[in-house]
Amino acid sequence: SEHRLSDFEKLQVLGHGNGGTVYKVRHRRTAAVYALKLLHTDTDASLRRQVSREVEILRHTDSPFVVRFHGVILPPSGDVAVLLEQMDAGSLDSLLRRRGNRPFPEPALAEIARQALHGLAYLHSHQIVHRDLKPSNLLVNRSGEVKIADFGVGKILRRSLDPCLSYVGTCAYMSPERFDPESYGGDYDPYAADVWSLGLAVLELYLGHFPLLPAGQRPDWAALMCAICFGEPPAPPPEGEASEDFRGFIGCCLQKESGKRWSVAELLGHPFVAGRDRSESARALRDLIAETAES
Ligand code: ATP
Ligand code: MG
Repeated sequence: SEHRLSDFEKLQVLGHGNGGTVYKVRHRRTAAVYALKLLHTDTDASLRRQVSREVEILRHTDSPFVVRFHGVILPPSGDVAVLLEQMDAGSLDSLLRRRGNRPFPEPALAEIARQALHGLAYLHSHQIVHRDLKPSNLLVNRSGEVKIADFGVGKILRRSLDPCLSYVGTCAYMSPERFDPESYGGDYDPYAADVWSLGLAVLELYLGHFPLLPAGQRPDWAALMCAICFGEPPAPPPEGEASEDFRGFIGCCLQKESGKRWSVAELLGHPFVAGRDRSESARALRDLIAETAES
């Protein structure tokens, strides 16, 4: 690759993931700032596969709703460094935590949903499923842009609709049909799983905690899987508390049967995202970001 690790100066840690650390870095010569995801893959073949998958997908994307890819560096150590656009307001889960888990207001959520849906529409139109959508993989910047990141378990589907039965992604955000493909005919729409995860992520930002668990409770994976497969889908917020549009939107995403779930294209036309003043919701999100960054 054209870049070397020594071309960059580490400024701070932006986040940790499994297998690596994301740094804010500055290119010494141009002073351009990037996020650099450094993964120790020298001893870990599955992590190596994960990185090559991520790079393979990022190479194929060019959208304002997907985090920009600026190349990959292979230092002699055997590590891999992925150079990304830096999103200066971090991930939505860190934003929620910095707010002390105070729920996001609906207009900001509408803007987040709209941009994330555009990101998904772009990916799905390129036969890419994300498969790990959650607040920590949705990044924001101070301009109020929301972008999808972290393609470590994404998949490029070619021609046939691969049912992608493989067990990847964060279990908590996985849709019922991915846990238990058999009872859904074993042949489901892989794109619909991203819609479930998005609905769960938006509801989490509304509630201030992961919807399938009471606030503050640590996940017990077996119980969680039972809740997703055999329980009722997470209920939309009660009438009177949330708007009818928001309740409807969440209901359309969190249909247990993937065939009944709305598609990304349909959701982009849902009144919750399409039926409001765009500049007002954009401002609501920018204000929320600015207010959180200052505190
Ligand atoms: P996990 O498996 O836990 O989701 P991961 O190893 O796949 O993590 P990422 O999700 O890509 O790694 O990044 C981990 C965290 O680092 C993110 O949740 C976010 O807080 C931060 N981060 C990642 N990329 C960027 C970026 N481009 N700009 C700013 N922060 C970022
Ligand atoms: Mg992540």
